[in-house]
Amino acid sequence: MSDLLNTQAIPKVELHLHLDCSLSFRSVSALISDMTFERYRAEYLAPPKCRDLVDYLGFLAAPQALLQNVRALKIATLDLFRQLEEDGVVYAEIRFAPHLHLAAGLKPQDVVEAVLEGRSEAQRQYSVESRIILCTLRHFDTAMGLEVVKLAKIYQAQGVGGIDLAGDEANYSLDAHIPVFRKARELGIHATAHAGEALGAESVREVVEKLGVRRIGHGVRSIESRAVIDILNERDVHLEVCPSCNIQIDVFDRYEDHPIDRLARQGLSVGVNTDARGPTDLTLSNEYERLREKFGWTPAAFQKANTNALAAAFIDATDRDRIMLRLV
Ligand SMILES: [Zn+2]
Repeated sequence: MSDLLNTQAIPKVELHLHLDCSLSFRSVSALISDMTFERYRAEYLAPPKCRDLVDYLGFLAAPQALLQNVRALKIATLDLFRQLEEDGVVYAEIRFAPHLHLAAGLKPQDVVEAVLEGRSEAQRQYSVESRIILCTLRHFDTAMGLEVVKLAKIYQAQGVGGIDLAGDEANYSLDAHIPVFRKARELGIHATAHAGEALGAESVREVVEKLGVRRIGHGVRSIESRAVIDILNERDVHLEVCPSCNIQIDVFDRYEDHPIDRLARQGLSVGVNTDARGPTDLTLSNEYERLREKFGWTPAAFQKANTNALAAAFIDATDRDRIMLRLV
């Protein structure tokens, strides 16, 4: 029976997805008229194995160079919703760092408004529900982080669900970001943070205790510490897990080495995400297929991951209840 499982048809919730890591060939072709598929693959996709996270982040230069004006941001956003609809996603949270799109003169609020306009257009065409997450990055200072919080507050009613801390986890400390997340908490803005990917379990403990987040991007190296797993279970912290991306940046060697199944079996709230549809050349249906093949995940296991993710989504109870009906 499981061999017949059509992973595309499973209604999915995807909480961890970067806009600038999700440029399809179609988007890039719309922005560069003489783009060929071969050139797209060479310039926009990272190799299946990167040295580490920093090596991988280098492959984001091409998409980020393109996403520097309103038209490009709207095209990329609209096309991402098309990809999500085709992938069976019913609810998505799409994230990006406004400060990475200012090279051609846009202001951070212009970037947010462009993506929200793309999202509005997508809502007329597709049935995917969504929130936007605004990222600050590890190497940004406190003032930039506070600007991200301010933008999240201003655009909360238009679809911004929360903030995130992304970027180079191994080489930058958390210190500059503690006041940023405190301010978000004071303003009632939801927050998640990348941790436990490039660094070990202690980095997961650190973001939970110092930033107060109840959601973590990746968090997979929690598997290295029983004490950290206990903290995550006690505080009901959700892990936004992105297995293929972790394999690509060599956190784990092979897919079968990935701890997602072990983390789920230890009672943690675990969801499944792509992180990056572009450089990783991936759909969420592909990811489900790999989980089915390598770990024997059943429709019930996928449904559990999706209800876990929806429970942790940055939405109110009314929206959550409505979307829950689409998962069954
Ligand atoms: Zn990420």
